[in-house]
Amino acid sequence: MQILKTIKDMQALSRTFIAGGKTIGFVPTMGALHEGHLSLVKRSKRENNATAVSIFVNPAQFGPKEDFRQYPRYIERDLVKLSLFGADAVFIPEADEMYPQGSSTIINVGNIGEKLCGASRPGHFNGVATVVSKLFNIVMPHKAYFGQKDFQQTVVIKKLARELNFDIEIMICPTIREADGLAMSSRNMYLNPAERKAAPVLYDALKRGKSFMDSGVKEVSFIIEALADLLNSEPLATIDYIELVEPEGLEKIEMVKLPTVLCLAVKIGATRLIDNMAFTP
Ligand code: AMP
Repeated sequence: MQILKTIKDMQALSRTFIAGGKTIGFVPTMGALHEGHLSLVKRSKRENNATAVSIFVNPAQFGPKEDFRQYPRYIERDLVKLSLFGADAVFIPEADEMYPQGSSTIINVGNIGEKLCGASRPGHFNGVATVVSKLFNIVMPHKAYFGQKDFQQTVVIKKLARELNFDIEIMICPTIREADGLAMSSRNMYLNPAERKAAPVLYDALKRGKSFMDSGVKEVSFIIEALADLLNSEPLATIDYIELVEPEGLEKIEMVKLPTVLCLAVKIGATRLIDNMAFTP
């Protein structure tokens, strides 16, 4: 497994892969790797001749009051996991390699980045789109792998790739969960034992949403109110949003119409968690 710290070295390695007729699969991450991340690596290994993973806690996607400084960093442990999983290359740049002094170009994803998580995280999706575009130009992958867990991010990235004509196939992989249903996330490390015990309430709400869908309930305001009651019954939970949206433009729907995605953001104590469930015809 090759470890690369500079853009020049990563590009050179990718050119070697391409010259050797290899297809490159790419998994961008912020590290503190768990089974969710590793499921993307596994899928990339299956579908490509070479797999590159990036580990970069991207300052551009954190707000001034967010957890950029505290964000978990476990590089050594991550590298062991990636080597066991057979990654071919790991790109670990420093912030000033990615954003040299004076960098000012950012990608504006428009209105799609202001919905759902964008409402409480202004600028977040522009930061994501900017770093992912840079990483695409650095790694030059044929396919790039993202988790359904960050549903709005998948929508933003697919739109970005389409509208900026990146010749890269965007692959979306299912959410990997703990045994009690909690979606795996590096931020789960912030939860104290009582919060960890409370956190599966997000998945409980998604399952309740599914049971409404299965029984043909159509009125979205009714569903959302019932899910809010369920979430509010957990004293450690504070709802940021509960929305049913159509999956392309993320517009809220008023009457259930498939396909749709039920999206949640809920704080458990001080930790903001997100989760979602997709419903198809
Ligand atoms: P992050 O390190 O949080 O930026 O995540 C890197 C990639 O892993 C993103 O595409 C995430 O959507 C994906 N990911 C994170 N958690 C999960 C999970 N529980 N299941 C599947 N993919 C995930």
